[in-house]
Amino acid sequence: MPHKEKRADLHVHTNLSDGTFSPEEVVEYAIKIGLSAIAITDHDSIEAIALAIKAAEGKNLEIIPGLEFTTELENCEAHILGFFIDYNKKWFTDELLHLRQMRHIRMQKMLECLSKKGIDITMDEVKSVSGEGSLGRLHLAKLLFKKGHVSSVRSAFDKFIGSGKSCYVSGDRISPQDAIAMIIKANGVPVLAHPHIMGQDRFIPKLVKAGLKGIEVYHSDHTAAAINHYKKIAEEFGLLMTGGSDCHGMGKGKILMGTVTVPYEIVEQLKNAR
Ligand code: AMP
Ligand code: ZN
Ligand code: FE
Ligand code: FE
Repeated sequence: MPHKEKRADLHVHTNLSDGTFSPEEVVEYAIKIGLSAIAITDHDSIEAIALAIKAAEGKNLEIIPGLEFTTELENCEAHILGFFIDYNKKWFTDELLHLRQMRHIRMQKMLECLSKKGIDITMDEVKSVSGEGSLGRLHLAKLLFKKGHVSSVRSAFDKFIGSGKSCYVSGDRISPQDAIAMIIKANGVPVLAHPHIMGQDRFIPKLVKAGLKGIEVYHSDHTAAAINHYKKIAEEFGLLMTGGSDCHGMGKGKILMGTVTVPYEIVEQLKNAR
C-alpha cells in the first residue's frame, strides 16, 4: 500500500459555538475521512477541546487545542486563530466568560435592531438554536431563514447582520492585537484567519508587529488567486502558512471538514513556533 501522507484540517467548529456537530461527532467524522489532526477552533470558546480530546483517546487522530477570536480594528472585523493554547488557565477562561457576556449583549442589540424593522425574534429562540454554547450571528441567520425573513442563511448576512450592514453591531469587541497578546500569554501561536474575507491587507504589518506568527493561506472561501496572494505575503513577513476548512458541520449547507487541509509538517511548525 502506498504511504499515505498525514493531513490536518486546522479550522473546525463544534456545536459549542456555531457548528452543528458535537465534539464527539467532529472526532468521529475526522477519523472516518482519514485526517491525522484537526484543530478545534470555536468562536471565543474552548469548551469543546477537552471533550474532543477525550473522544479521540486511543484513536489515530490528534486534537490541537485552539480557538478563533472575533476582533475588530478600525471598524473592520478580523478573526484571529490561536493554536496549542493552554486553554484551562483561569485567567484565560475568565476572559472568555467576559467575551461570552459581550456576545449576549451584542445579540440583544441585533434583536432590537431587527425588531425595529418589524422582525420579532426572541433571545429564547436564539438560544434554542445555539444551545449552551457561544452565541453568534450564524445562529441568528439560521433563525431569520427558518422564520422566512430571508431567502437563505447567507442573505441574512447580506441584508442585515453582515459586516457593515444595517443590523451589524460594532464596537465592544477586543482588538486583534489584544487577541494576539492573549494567545501568546496562553503559550499559543496566533494566526490571522481567512485574510481574504477580512480584505484589509494594510492590517497585516500591524498584526505582525503585535506578534502574529502565521496566516491562514488555505481556506474554503479562498480562491486560487487569494491563496497565491497570501502565500506571497506570508513569505514577505516570514509567517507560517496554515490552512483549514472552517467546517461548521451542516451549518454552511455541507460538511466542509477535510476539503481544505495542510500537510502534518505544518502542525510541527506550529508546535515549534510556541
Ligand atoms: P460571530 O461570531 O457572531 O461574529 O459570527 C461569525 C460567524 O458568522 C462565522 O461562522 C462566519 O462564518 C459567519 N459569517 C460571517 N459573515 C458571513 C457571511 N457574509 N456569510 C455567511 N456567513 C458569515
Ligand atoms: Zn462560525
Ligand atoms: Fe472566522
Ligand atoms: Fe471559523
